[in-house]
Amino acid sequence: MSDPLECRVLVLAPTARDAAATCGLLAAAGVAGVPCADIAAVCREAARGAGAAVLTAEAVLADAAGALPALLRDQPPWASLPLIVLTPAGPESPKLLHALEAVGPMTLVKRPVQVSALISTVRAAVRDRERQYAVRDLMEDRRRADAALREQERRAAAVLESMTEGFIVLDADWKFVYVNAAFERMTNVRRGEILGKSQWLVYPATVGTPVEAAYRRAAAERITVEFENHYEPWDRWFALKAYPAPDGGLCVQIREVSAVKQAEAAIARVGAESARRKRLYETVLSNTPDFMYVFSLDHTVLYANDALLTTWGVSAKAVVGKTFLEIGYEPWHADMHGREIDQVRATKKPIRGEVPFTGTNGRRIYDYIFVPVVGADGAVEAVAGTTRDVTDRKAAEEVLRDADRKKDDFIALLAHELRNPLAPVRNGLQVLRLSNDRATRERSQAMMDRQLGHMVRLIDDLLDVSRINRNKMELRRERILLADAVASAVETARPMIEAAGHELTVALPPEPVVLDADLTRLAQVFSNLLTNSAKYTEAGGTIRLAGRRDGDEIAVTVRDTGIGIPAEALPNIFDMFSQVDRSVERATGGLGIGLAIVKGLVEMHGGTVTAASGGQGQGSEFTVRLPVVPARPDPRPDAGPGLTAATAGPRRRILVVDDNRDAAVSMEMMLSLLGHEVSLAHDGVEAVERAAAVRPDVILMDVGMPRLNGLDATRRIREQPWGRAVKVIALTGWGQDADRARSKEAGCDGHLVKPVSLPDLQQLLTERG
Ligand code: ADP
Repeated sequence: MSDPLECRVLVLAPTARDAAATCGLLAAAGVAGVPCADIAAVCREAARGAGAAVLTAEAVLADAAGALPALLRDQPPWASLPLIVLTPAGPESPKLLHALEAVGPMTLVKRPVQVSALISTVRAAVRDRERQYAVRDLMEDRRRADAALREQERRAAAVLESMTEGFIVLDADWKFVYVNAAFERMTNVRRGEILGKSQWLVYPATVGTPVEAAYRRAAAERITVEFENHYEPWDRWFALKAYPAPDGGLCVQIREVSAVKQAEAAIARVGAESARRKRLYETVLSNTPDFMYVFSLDHTVLYANDALLTTWGVSAKAVVGKTFLEIGYEPWHADMHGREIDQVRATKKPIRGEVPFTGTNGRRIYDYIFVPVVGADGAVEAVAGTTRDVTDRKAAEEVLRDADRKKDDFIALLAHELRNPLAPVRNGLQVLRLSNDRATRERSQAMMDRQLGHMVRLIDDLLDVSRINRNKMELRRERILLADAVASAVETARPMIEAAGHELTVALPPEPVVLDADLTRLAQVFSNLLTNSAKYTEAGGTIRLAGRRDGDEIAVTVRDTGIGIPAEALPNIFDMFSQVDRSVERATGGLGIGLAIVKGLVEMHGGTVTAASGGQGQGSEFTVRLPVVPARPDPRPDAGPGLTAATAGPRRRILVVDDNRDAAVSMEMMLSLLGHEVSLAHDGVEAVERAAAVRPDVILMDVGMPRLNGLDATRRIREQPWGRAVKVIALTGWGQDADRARSKEAGCDGHLVKPVSLPDLQQLLTERG
């Protein structure tokens, strides 16, 4: 025993001297004695701690108040203070025995006391007392340990209760033995409702699910099982951690992860969406024929799309991080783009440029734009751009410019060509005015006729080529004989051929060649070729027209011994306004549209035309191929009255309507000379009035006029009782079928295209009805 207080032996002697003597004895034996004056002192010291108390029987007897029994009675359960009582010599009196008994257990030592006996008794008592104190300490330790445990449990419970995670403990029968507050909140239950009940009864929806499997595994294998579970009834996600409880059963920590799951799902959705977008952008970027790219501010490639990689002839891997020079740009080109990147960076403005570049697809012209890629902080991070191959566009522009130039040339040429015949016409008029010599006048008239015919042809050609170009040309196709078309063409071209002293031979297959064609237009094709041969052959040349069957086709060749066509001019010879640049064209006149008409008409007939020439001075050869119809020609109607056989018909009353006064007056003069009675009107309204007044037999009605046009005037006239029998002939510059249909619909009996030839007019005038 370490505490000195608890080894002390309290000594209550009759006198202080006795007490001191006893203490001295004890001290000699190594025991600390404490002299006490009375019972009260003993009780006080005992409370502080003592190994034993030595007192006399007389002191016990003197304890009338019973302090000693009280001291012994009130001791803690583990304690029994050893009392050593010195009794008088001789037998004890019954009174003493009774008093001693009332106090409690004690060791009696008879007087006179033998010192050694007393010492050994005291020692035995103190040892006994030491054991008591040891028991006390043990009990004390145990009590403290219990308290600590309880504190621990209290703290653990507090922790479990304050946890945000749910925590439950199930016993070996899967019954809830503990449920924390978080679990109550999470699942909206009160622990009273589920404690003592089976997990599978409380949450039947977990039976047969991964939850049951995990719980059973953790319990059976005594391992920790962590898993996530979607609890269907609540549509909520939980993360669970099940592990064996120390005393059997299962602990489960439960954390709700619905929000996380939702976030994950959202992220997955966003991820899928951005992946989809990325695929989309990649598809666009890699399929566009334009180049798209991003350059770094230090002039290296960050990105290049497929089109650009292909043109560079490299892979994306090989090119990223490379400079223009490293990719193979010429130094000037690399420098230029470097400067441009710097400029875009400095100005934050896009720049455009056009540059030739030789890549895997050859030398092409590119139009490009560099734009700044601006970061969140407003600084330029990179330079992006697109580049387009504009080679074809440039070529097309050049073609357009060329066409425009040609058109300007043509207009100049046209003016020239129209003015040419006008000069002799004007001269002719002067001659008529000045000369009374009949022969001179007739020559002059013939010349004016020719020149006028020339002008009319020019204008007809122009209209034809414009119709062909606008797909407005209409063919009147029927079964015809090639020979008829050729004969008509020769008839037209012959004056020119003969004037130049050329020899013309025509050789057609002996059997009839039937074509599905417009006779007039086909004749125009051959006459154009024949007149060209006549024009472009020195006087006294030879022109040969030959036809040869070639399977289902007929090939008609017009060959001459003329000036020929240079090889470089051949490919474009059939283009509009195409003229070989040499003085002879200017000399012979022409608008450069004859061959364009030939080609257009032949193609409309389903045929082809080609040109060949050995070159300058070697003559030319044009071959027209046309499909042949394996049938007989349509019976041709009898030819009408001969065009030259104009006969003077009966005298008629004629109203001439034209807002062009000269046209009206010249027509009046001509008709008067032919013996007709003529009156004039200069617009539609006037025409109706004059017609009502003079009741003409025939009205020659101009169509385009102010106030009221010719067609409307005709309609008004037809509304009059006298107006139904009048013969109205439309006179117009428009000669297409649609124009004829319109005038017929308005009530016209005939349709003549200006300038009107006298035979046509005479024919209409003589026709009845
Ligand atoms: P034009 O004769 O009015 O100039 P064309 O279209 O008929 O227009 O002919 C175009 C050009 O083709 C002519 O200007 C001429 O240079 C050339 N050409 C046409 N036919 C012949 C030919 N038989 N021999 C030589 N050159 C020809």
